[in-house]
Amino acid sequence: MSLVIAQPTTPVVPVYGGGEFPVRRIYCVGRNYVEHAKEMGFSGREAPFFFLKPADAVLPVRAGEVGRMPYPTLTADLHHEVELVVAIGKGGSAIRAADALDHVWGYGVGLDMTRRDLQADMKKQGRPWSIGKGFDHSAPIGELRPAADCAIGAETAIRLEVNGQVRQQSTIGKLIWNLGEVIEHLSAAWTLAPGDLIFSGTPEGVAAVGRGDRLKASVEGVGSLEIEIV
Ligand code: MN
Repeated sequence: MSLVIAQPTTPVVPVYGGGEFPVRRIYCVGRNYVEHAKEMGFSGREAPFFFLKPADAVLPVRAGEVGRMPYPTLTADLHHEVELVVAIGKGGSAIRAADALDHVWGYGVGLDMTRRDLQADMKKQGRPWSIGKGFDHSAPIGELRPAADCAIGAETAIRLEVNGQVRQQSTIGKLIWNLGEVIEHLSAAWTLAPGDLIFSGTPEGVAAVGRGDRLKASVEGVGSLEIEIV
């Protein structure tokens, strides 16, 4: 071994009941609920598309604890996006939707935090969104739960409260591209590997939060996540 600087640490997300899931990459699906696509000015009928966050953008929060997310720099419009997160346990490329769930290790609840003003500026200029989406601490995530212990169906509720008031509320059945289809499309473009996380998209109701706000995200039967913006 002759690394010329110290080995960077692998980000990890805690697992219900013990253990940690090492994170390799964070993929995110854009506009995967019709009503959210509409609120962003789109039809909700396009093919799925993807962007990434750095693995160390995760802000892992244990069950029962309140994570602290620093209000990021350069923005005056920090938005919440509650999402069901898929954790990949078995890699592959060109995975068919019908086989996709065999590649899933488990699920979690995440927040795709977004500097909406910077994202909008970049979109307007035809530039990459990274500054709007892939910043430090932009992926708060709760404890992961093994797939066998989750029962995710069309009626599974996904929800976000800010300071006790419901801001986002939907069901997993309203995903435009279901989890199998997301994995099929994603693995056509990248080779998936154990440790990959996929943020599957957010329902309508995205809005701004500020310092002192308390966010509570949940997916029924999967888990919950609580953070405060500091
Ligand atoms: Mn999102």
